Amino acid sequence: MSALTRLRAATRVELAVLGVATSAWRAVHTGIEDQPNAVGPVCADDDHDPDDPSLYDCCPNLVIELGTESEALAGYLAALLTADLGGAR
Ligand SMILES: [Zn+2]
Repeated sequence: MSALTRLRAATRVELAVLGVATSAWRAVHTGIEDQPNAVGPVCADDDHDPDDPSLYDCCPNLVIELGTESEALAGYLAALLTADLGGAR
């Protein structure tokens, strides 16, 4: 079993413990930044517009902050995490 496979499995367990069940990740603004500064699970709340990258009380309580603002980096990480849900090796 590769290190990536072990880490993926451990992360899935941890996400389940945290109650995060998502099929996709998204770039997130935690404040009034010009560009996203975090990545988080897609919010499934009916009142949260899927195109709205803001973070609200309705959103899953898991945010991975980047330490910088970057549309490209946040989008890339969200795409990687989403693709990995399919079990890419
Ligand atoms: Zn939300």
